[in-house]
Amino acid sequence: MKALALVLLLAGTPALAADRAVAVRIYSLHKLKAINLETDGAVSAGGKAFSGRARAVVRGQLVALEGAAHAGPAKSIKLSVSGGLWFSGSGLPRRRHTGEIVISQDKGRLKIIDTVPMETYIAGVVSGEAQDLSQPEAYKAQAVAARTYTVKRIHAHSAEGYNLCDSTHCQLYTGTGAVSDKARKAAQDTRGELLTYLGQPAATFYHSICGGRTERMTSVWPFEHKPYLVSVRDGPPAGRPYCSIAPGFRWKTRIYFTGLTRLARQAGWLRQDETADGLRVTARGRSGRAEYVEITAGGRKVNVPATEFYHGIGRRAGWNAVKSSYFKVLQGRDFVLLDGVGYGHGVGMCQWGAEGMARKGYGYRDILKHYYPGTEIKND
Ligand SMILES: [Zn+2]
Ligand SMILES: [Zn+2]
Repeated sequence: MKALALVLLLAGTPALAADRAVAVRIYSLHKLKAINLETDGAVSAGGKAFSGRARAVVRGQLVALEGAAHAGPAKSIKLSVSGGLWFSGSGLPRRRHTGEIVISQDKGRLKIIDTVPMETYIAGVVSGEAQDLSQPEAYKAQAVAARTYTVKRIHAHSAEGYNLCDSTHCQLYTGTGAVSDKARKAAQDTRGELLTYLGQPAATFYHSICGGRTERMTSVWPFEHKPYLVSVRDGPPAGRPYCSIAPGFRWKTRIYFTGLTRLARQAGWLRQDETADGLRVTARGRSGRAEYVEITAGGRKVNVPATEFYHGIGRRAGWNAVKSSYFKVLQGRDFVLLDGVGYGHGVGMCQWGAEGMARKGYGYRDILKHYYPGTEIKND
């Protein structure tokens, strides 16, 4: 009940985007029975200040704090972190978090929800998302896109008692331990700004490198068409896209038929007794990305949507194997060579294109309008 009340309170607050708090489930992908805590500045547990090391553990249906702070066993333990609190454990990334942290348990695992001010959260997201970029205007474009995405997704996990999770399922958030000054400044400089279309927050998808042209959303996902998620050319002059400055703009991947067979059987594209002996692109979208690929096995041809192929390979062989669906296929004797450009799905803002535009002197407003045509920036 408590958790639900918190979400209703957050959702019901007609506050400005900048002043909103975001309840994030941290370590959401980890199944934890215990986690180590170490204070880094002022922290209180259940209203009592403590400093040093403590450990949060599951105790049956309850949770407890041991070490420098003793609390519980209780249904939930609240930590007020005005400084910082480091989290660590075996096999866990060490991260620093701040804000109001509530530790409880769900199905015998720790459930840790960190409620942070919107701009603290945005700075953290931008720091991770834009870490390879350098231009302040590209950081600002990223901050507006991330804030808009957050506002649009604010109810993603309402039923579970929080707003967003800290994984890429929602948006990667790794706390305040490694936030760059550029990211913090970009969040502050664009404080409360949202990208809107007809007055509503836009669906601000973004990706790393478009490869020369972004892709219309409906060519990638079966969602309702959005007039601002269309294919745009990644800037004049032709042949020198803004994102061509990106390391890894062009890539080549060799896929042996043995590997392709294994992946295609796992993905259900081929039957268990079939062996892949060919791959080609049979249809391309507006941008030039593959829309369908055809896998041949003996005499049989199987058509697979390129997005499914890209995701299927990515999930099983890692996202670096086939970096985008923007490729041509060269056939070898026992392999195919994918010769491609770009990194990511290609929908919405090209992050390296934003960097390229900023280097050419464009501001973040120009960048956002270029990748999301017809949208406006509003101060919520
Ligand atoms: Zn999520
Ligand atoms: Zn691009």
